[in-house]
Amino acid sequence: MIKYSIVVPIYNEEKNIDILYQRLTKVLTALKKEYELIFVNDGSFDQTLFKLINLYQKDSRVKIINFSRNFGHQMAVSAGLKYAQGEIVVVMDADLQDPPEVLPQFFKKIDEGYDVVYAIRKKRKESLFMRLAYATYYRFLKAIAEIDIPLDSGDFCVMRRKVVKAINLLPERNRFVRGIRAWVGFKQIGLEYERDRRYAGKSKYTFKKIMKLAFDGIFSFSYVPFKFMFYLGFFSLFFSFLGALFVFYMKFFTSHYNRVPGFATTVTLLIFIGGLQLFSMGIMGEYIKRIYDEVKGRPSYIIDSVFGIKIENQNS
Ligand code: UDP
Ligand code: MG
Repeated sequence: MIKYSIVVPIYNEEKNIDILYQRLTKVLTALKKEYELIFVNDGSFDQTLFKLINLYQKDSRVKIINFSRNFGHQMAVSAGLKYAQGEIVVVMDADLQDPPEVLPQFFKKIDEGYDVVYAIRKKRKESLFMRLAYATYYRFLKAIAEIDIPLDSGDFCVMRRKVVKAINLLPERNRFVRGIRAWVGFKQIGLEYERDRRYAGKSKYTFKKIMKLAFDGIFSFSYVPFKFMFYLGFFSLFFSFLGALFVFYMKFFTSHYNRVPGFATTVTLLIFIGGLQLFSMGIMGEYIKRIYDEVKGRPSYIIDSVFGIKIENQNS
């Protein structure tokens, strides 16, 4: 029986793998329980896979799920969770921003009876702009989301088997794992930790990927944008009605009708209303896009090969 599964999504991290493996091994062997390290290779094109296979040949606790291309961090985490067998499952990044040395503290909380222990970032070692952007985003999301998504927590967490099973039951495709984790419930607690700098290489989250994640958080867990469109439409109607009354009055009760100024006003209003309409359509588009993705029913990821893991239907 495997006690701990460590799920690591990994995309072009050749310089981080060996040190990550060493630090994880040191921490986990000290616990004297069976464990497995599941590396999900998300379409890396550097030496990542080669290095992972090297480890796999030396250590039977190393397992690899190798994607056919880059499907994104959230998909890699989801695949890892699906095939993890441990009683307690950890999700952590490969760049050592989540230090393995804090894991025993997290496991202690599980022993105290919690089902999910998620990590809260005490200090972000990023630029002021990014820190501000993240802080604003998480507060905005918390304000509008249907569920209570904890502030400043990423995917780094420790979960009991039953929680992982629940997460695996959710078939949605645009996965925002930290939201899904909050959605499933159970006894959860946050634990603060000092997030280190990335050990080697650059962030693999491009601007586009960050935006996709941010949008998934909002549109998968909130209906507020829909309601916002409704209120916007309602107020526009209300004001246009007042405007109509005004024109009506000028036409029938005064002699100034033909001299009503306002060409510029009219054009500005037209553009404004047009803008609102396009904006609202954009919001609707985000929901429709997600519905479309579900209806198409494509698998969330394609597995090319596996090492140390048995899977029945490889691509499901
Ligand atoms: N990652 C991944 N697929 C991607 C992008 C990132 O598997 O398309 C992995 C990456 O290798 C790392 C983790 O996800 O282990 C977090 O990515 P990164 O450190 O680049 O993000 P940041 O910490 O800058 O937000
Ligand atoms: Mg990182």
